[in-house]
Amino acid sequence: GKRVGGRYQIISRLGEGGMAIVYKAKDLILDRFVAVKTLRPELADDEEFVRRFHREAESVTSLSHPNIVAIYDIGEEDCYYIVMEYVEGMTLKEFIRDYSPVSIDEAIHIMKQIILAIAHAHEHGIVHRDIKPQNILIDESEHVKVTDFGIALAVSGATITYTHSIMGSAHYLSPEQAKGGKATVKSDIYAIGIVMFELLTGKLPFPGTSPVSVALKHLSSPMPYPRDFRADIPQAVENVMIRALAKDPSDRYNHVTDMYQDILTALNPERAHELRLILN
Ligand code: ATP
Ligand code: MG
Ligand code: MG
Repeated sequence: GKRVGGRYQIISRLGEGGMAIVYKAKDLILDRFVAVKTLRPELADDEEFVRRFHREAESVTSLSHPNIVAIYDIGEEDCYYIVMEYVEGMTLKEFIRDYSPVSIDEAIHIMKQIILAIAHAHEHGIVHRDIKPQNILIDESEHVKVTDFGIALAVSGATITYTHSIMGSAHYLSPEQAKGGKATVKSDIYAIGIVMFELLTGKLPFPGTSPVSVALKHLSSPMPYPRDFRADIPQAVENVMIRALAKDPSDRYNHVTDMYQDILTALNPERAHELRLILN
């Protein structure tokens, strides 16, 4: 079969996105399975895409977390590629399609892992900017790994050269981004709120097929109440989504860790005081 970078033997195709095709491969030196993300050949002549592709590897290698897909290697022999941890399972998009509605406990178990991954990235000054179920992988034992930091930006004090393009899906776009503003920690929180809504109800809060109409809904349609779709969602859990999906970023959670704490408290109000002690 085909090889990339000499040592990676391509086995099968795992998936693709706007920018890349991802293969399952065998690392012939370390004798283990890996995922090889290759830049689409038609984009290889475009400097902007090549830069963005490399930036992905750079931003993720500074992170090390059980809920973030690890990067092993990058290269540009044969094609531009990033070698990463292979996750055997499915994307959260497929998971929602196949298993929705999942129990509240299961949904919360998944959300906690997503939040811990993004909390780790934020602590390291990295905003994901493309959180959506297609970029969240889940294995058989419901261990979650966030991937595709492709348009992630380091925000720690650095000047951001900002080139905004609606690369991903409009369904996870925060109101401030819909207005053309830059992505921040708060827009990641908004996207997590949409994923949480979708996972709990099996529905998007702002559905639609045209990106423009969806963006307009993020800007001005009131958020539907998750409990109207599913009555067994606890009020305190609905409140977490209301705060994460606040239109005005100043009404939203400031930190993803505040969201995490509210979720824990929502599920176990008696232990709220104890949890606060642990987290502080
Ligand atoms: P986007 O259009 O969202 O920017 P992309 O082109 O950057 O996507 P990825 O999201 O990184 O590409 O990967 C595309 C798909 O490949 C994923 O949705 C998933 O199905 C699969 N995939 C990616 N990484 C892995 C991995 N480490 N293990 C298993 N499957 C993976
Ligand atoms: Mg992707
Ligand atoms: Mg991407």
